[in-house]
Amino acid sequence: MIAPKDETRIGVYVCHCGTNISAVIDVEALAEFARGLPQVALARDYKYMCSDPGQELIKQDIVDKKLNRIVVAACSPLLHEATFRRVAEDAGLNPFLVQMANIREQVAWVTDDPVDALAKAKAHVAAAVRRVSKHEPLERRSVDVTPRVLVVGGGIAGIQASLTLAEAGKEVILVEREPSIGGHMSMFDKTFPTLDCAACILTPKMTAVKDERNIRLLTYSEIESVEGAVGNYKVKVRRKARYISEEKCVGCMACIDQCVFTKPKFPNEYDQGLGLRKPVYMPFPQAVPPVPIIDPETCLQLSKGKCKQNCVEACGERGAVLLDQEDTIEEFEVGAIIVATGFKAFDPSVMPYYGYGRLPNVYTSLEVERLVNAAGPTGGKLVLRDGSVPKRVVIVHCVGSRDKNYHTYCSRVCCMYSLKLAHLVKEKTDAEIYNCYIDMRTSGKGFEEFYNRVQDEGVHFIRGKVGDISLVPPENGEQSNRMTIQVDDTLLGKVRNFDVDMVILAVGLEPQPDTDDVRRMFGMSCSTEGFFLEKHPKLAPVNTANDGVFLAGVCQGVKDIPDTVAQADAAAAKALALIDRGTFELEPNTAVIDEDNCSGCRICNNLCPYDAIEYDEEKEVSRVIPELCKGCGTCVAACPAGVITGVHFTNDQIFAEIEGMLFDAMPDLLAV
Ligand code: SF4
Ligand code: SF4
Ligand code: SF4
Repeated sequence: MIAPKDETRIGVYVCHCGTNISAVIDVEALAEFARGLPQVALARDYKYMCSDPGQELIKQDIVDKKLNRIVVAACSPLLHEATFRRVAEDAGLNPFLVQMANIREQVAWVTDDPVDALAKAKAHVAAAVRRVSKHEPLERRSVDVTPRVLVVGGGIAGIQASLTLAEAGKEVILVEREPSIGGHMSMFDKTFPTLDCAACILTPKMTAVKDERNIRLLTYSEIESVEGAVGNYKVKVRRKARYISEEKCVGCMACIDQCVFTKPKFPNEYDQGLGLRKPVYMPFPQAVPPVPIIDPETCLQLSKGKCKQNCVEACGERGAVLLDQEDTIEEFEVGAIIVATGFKAFDPSVMPYYGYGRLPNVYTSLEVERLVNAAGPTGGKLVLRDGSVPKRVVIVHCVGSRDKNYHTYCSRVCCMYSLKLAHLVKEKTDAEIYNCYIDMRTSGKGFEEFYNRVQDEGVHFIRGKVGDISLVPPENGEQSNRMTIQVDDTLLGKVRNFDVDMVILAVGLEPQPDTDDVRRMFGMSCSTEGFFLEKHPKLAPVNTANDGVFLAGVCQGVKDIPDTVAQADAAAAKALALIDRGTFELEPNTAVIDEDNCSGCRICNNLCPYDAIEYDEEKEVSRVIPELCKGCGTCVAACPAGVITGVHFTNDQIFAEIEGMLFDAMPDLLAV
């Protein structure tokens, strides 16, 4: 590395960015202005500074002209700061002796007048020149990375990410809070638009997870705590008592058959409450692991302490039924984490005008998925609660989505799964089917073709929002369960009323109810919709603000199965890139607390959004954990004693920037 010389020699490089910058800012005049600034040894303008020739130009100048500070006036540092730091490093200069002036997003793209734009660009360049002269060379520190990945959530996203990592030979800890992996996809009958049997494409993957030696599968388990930082997280997992040993059970189901409850009696959660189960039950036939579970709330022994315990006897010598089992905590060290916690289906009972929970034949789409499924509560027969086959069915789109009272976003999958359900219900019942939609959104591969196919099958489409669903008035003193639908038909321009005997509410997708707790646990943020926030929507869609934590599936935002699988592979690739390298370089621009002068007031402790400040009880001072600190500056601004310094954002450097604007560029600014 070239140590900064006594004589400061700054090189300024003004980028045209094609015409993005040069169409508004006189780049030659800007370079000329820079040449006159103190300590500037050289200033050039060039068409694309980020191109190979542009980068070479800087490298050559650093060596030939003995430059020891660089300013690049170009686009946002978010895009190319890393590029120009690397250029400096390649030429033997400390990468932190580079400063960018953002004259594209902050000037050229927001200022129409060329005179104003040039004056403003000069201010940015002058500020950057003064600032860079105060920069100190900084060294990055690297930490070893534990070659193991935690995947949280065992839906299709978590399954896919785990398998991809395991195929690459990496150890995976897959944690799922339900008794089986499979998630929502395991509840579906067919998938759109190809109508593949969901179980046929999902269960081979579920079985592969079970058989994969590199995957440690922990179902019916929840993350208790996460400590540490990128490369080295310590995770505690609560393994909830299942009351049946996964190691000893062979899945013979004798315990279920012999349970003192001779018939299923309690609502089966997996069937959305439409089917019944015993206290000891298998979540669904293809569950992984293929081990029953005992529900402590409904089991007589576990809830009341008195039962003949037929299940224990049925299991016999295997001894797999463990009615005295307790929760246990297991600890793991992992280098990276993939969060794939999925979604919750919108609960339409909060919309009283749709009658869900009040009118017996109003169903959610997820309930209908179970009704049409051969493994569902009716064995795949589409019948209403009274056992009759519906003759007229309406599917109400956008329930909870695109509605400013609930979720303003489009859930992206409802139009397509509504078409799929229309096809399946028609196939099973030959009923008249009406789809009431706001807009049809069929933009995926093969989606429009599927829409056409369903239209050709005779399904009716009404463009309009359903306003009300109510029971048809009694006829001859008899009240039936038939319903009148009131819909505002926007194509005919009138309100229409028609009768149906089944309503399917196409409910939207929303964040899990515990999203905020999970967000805190993994040091992430949430978008305005409440889903976990990616680091950058275009350039880092599976990264989060926490360097070792990645996102996959609907927990990041609504998407269908193909997009979920693609994103899960992307998250696995990112995690793999991190753990495969073996080390991770920490950015040096963190906060530092002057412990000698810290009063121990602890104001900074709770303000840090990344939990990066710890309190030393013995010395009664606060301390920054560099592995966690993101250099956001919150604590620097908040410390009443002023003893926290933001490295690379010192007062000296910030004041120099302001002075550059005020003293070196003000004459130009005042002139406009
Ligand atoms: Fe069979 Fe025992 Fe497992 Fe029940 S717990 S499925 S009886 S092996
Ligand atoms: Fe059924 Fe009794 Fe066993 Fe509970 S203890 S699962 S109620 S047989
Ligand atoms: Fe936390 Fe930000 Fe202070 Fe770092 S700079 S310790 S991330 S508040």
